[in-house]
Amino acid sequence: MKLVYSDQYDLNLGDHVFPSVKYRLTKEKLLRDGIVRPEDLVEPAPASDEDVALVHHREYIRKLKTGTLSYLEILRLEIPYSPELVRAVWLCAGGSILAGRLALAGNIAVNVGGGFHHAFPDHGEGFCVLHDVAIAIRRLQKEGAIQRAMTVDCDVHQGNGTAEIFAADPTVFTFSIHQERNYPYPKPASNLDVNVEDGTEDEEYLAALEDGLGQALAEFHPDMVFYLAGADPYREDQLGGLKLSLHGIERRDRLVLQAARAKNIPVMITLAGGYARSLEDTIRIHSNTVRAAKEFAKP
Ligand SMILES: [Zn+2]
Repeated sequence: MKLVYSDQYDLNLGDHVFPSVKYRLTKEKLLRDGIVRPEDLVEPAPASDEDVALVHHREYIRKLKTGTLSYLEILRLEIPYSPELVRAVWLCAGGSILAGRLALAGNIAVNVGGGFHHAFPDHGEGFCVLHDVAIAIRRLQKEGAIQRAMTVDCDVHQGNGTAEIFAADPTVFTFSIHQERNYPYPKPASNLDVNVEDGTEDEEYLAALEDGLGQALAEFHPDMVFYLAGADPYREDQLGGLKLSLHGIERRDRLVLQAARAKNIPVMITLAGGYARSLEDTIRIHSNTVRAAKEFAKP
């Protein structure tokens, strides 16, 4: 199984609640634990502006590239603007496109980054600048690699950008399971939203996920599942209010992978959020996802 990764995914945010160093640390743990070999890692190229424009408005792209976002636009991102940030998000979008292509070739591939589901066509918010997954979907559709896509978003926060981008697009089914009383407000409707209550624990969450995913896959047959494997439903998360255990999140990953692979649907995985009190827990959750993915991938 191939993993797309670049050292430049790190946004170098320092003491920020968003630990963007997690990408490198996850990669290092995967290598150290022998889950991944150095030759499994693939370096992405940045997405082209044409690819980014499949999702984002030209004016927003121009502002990002010329450093002319307004103060309020930067505030809304909740991360500091820099040319390095722009380079990282373009690279990560390229990484998601590449991971999508690799998933077609090998059933499952991972972008050790991405899942920036709060980015909208004309603005970014909630740590998300470009919607890498939407860009990958549109790019793969454009080159004829896929026609129909499904997003399966298990980040604790609703995929508002995803819902908005694909609201009028019948070729993409958006599924999101998230904590109802949490950012974002409002939540534009996905094709299927599963709202879970504060403090939901493993069994209840997994039952809701199984039901929702079963319903989504009965209704819609995608050529690829884009799985946003957020680590933030974890009970120790600083920005989440659910109570999943480490083991519960592993079971979640397997449930999603099993559901897609049972129907022979390739899966592209992005990491999305993760803000556990202990960074080590976030890294463990992400590396568990990759380990599960490897089990479901072609030998
Ligand atoms: Zn999140």
